[in-house]
Amino acid sequence: MANLKLEPISLPGLELKRPWVVAGPCSAETEEQVMETAHQLADKGYKIFRAGIWKPRTRPGAFEGVGTVGLPWLKRVKEETGMYVGIEVANAHHVYEALKYGIDILWIGARTTANPFAVQEIADALKGMDIPVLVKNPVNPDLELWIGALERINRAGIKKLAAIHRGFSTYDDSKYRNHPQWQIPIELRRRIPELPIICDPSHIGGKRELIYKISQEAMDLNFDGLIIESHRCPDKAWSDAKQQVTPDELKKITKKIVLRGANIGDKYRASLDELRTEIDRLDTTLLETLEKRMSISEAIGKYKKDNNITILQTRRYDEIMNNRRKQGASLGLSEEFTTKIFEDIHEESVTRQNIIMNN
Ligand code: PEP
Ligand code: MN
Repeated sequence: MANLKLEPISLPGLELKRPWVVAGPCSAETEEQVMETAHQLADKGYKIFRAGIWKPRTRPGAFEGVGTVGLPWLKRVKEETGMYVGIEVANAHHVYEALKYGIDILWIGARTTANPFAVQEIADALKGMDIPVLVKNPVNPDLELWIGALERINRAGIKKLAAIHRGFSTYDDSKYRNHPQWQIPIELRRRIPELPIICDPSHIGGKRELIYKISQEAMDLNFDGLIIESHRCPDKAWSDAKQQVTPDELKKITKKIVLRGANIGDKYRASLDELRTEIDRLDTTLLETLEKRMSISEAIGKYKKDNNITILQTRRYDEIMNNRRKQGASLGLSEEFTTKIFEDIHEESVTRQNIIMNN
């Protein structure tokens, strides 16, 4: 169990009720873009504004953020709209600048969370401050590293902490930009039940079409809130254009979200629902993986046909069965169970290869 000393996240004069929403552009680009987007969001009732001032980009040459010149724009957002403002910090300098300009909330980006030196530097810069800090998961699916970052910030005396789930990088060209791997935030919730977790569907999906579905999934898993990228003119955004939505579209998305479980008094039922949702999701992953495996097996079938090789290669079959049984056993699965599953999988592969061979 992680041993964190937490206080509920609060902002002066604002009670954060589930689901609380942080909204705003990926990046602050110009004063006009920031002000217009903020006014539109404020008019729709959103209370917390986000904008990246320093942008960690994967490849050099992309827009890396306007830097400190953007901070007075956020001050103007506060003054003119009454919204609270949040930015990403990646080093001590960012923290000092943010505090100087009265930023209300800080978040640590996924690439930074993956780097304990950077997180420690930020923690040291925050000593003695009382500001809410949101910690994104690291880019790699490593729960300990995520918890470690939360601990570093907490040890600096920051008690208003929350986690942001933004998904995990994969080499796979899956439908997500960053795979959600929901079991990881679920395990985080189990380990630190009092830590609020919000979901970032924009960076998980990478496409605006996925935002609603991912947000609803997060709410069905009892997340506390959402952080969603919204831009006055998404297609013209200087970063992450495909995943941003207009404030209008955002309103439609957040209005459509069903808050299940809110009026179920029985907390056991709610956690049962969480587990069932997770089972459904894992089954989908199982099916998708099986489909991938079958298409590779068909490619092998084609190779065997072109090279006149028999379908059944007994040595390979024995090798697979033995290895899978061992792998299964080391994961706590019974030999009988693993054998049954792989016999069925193998049978289906052979059937498919037979069709290819005789076509
Ligand atoms: C962002 O929030 O714009 C951002 C850079 O996100 P992440 O750290 O999740 O990649
Ligand atoms: Mn972004």
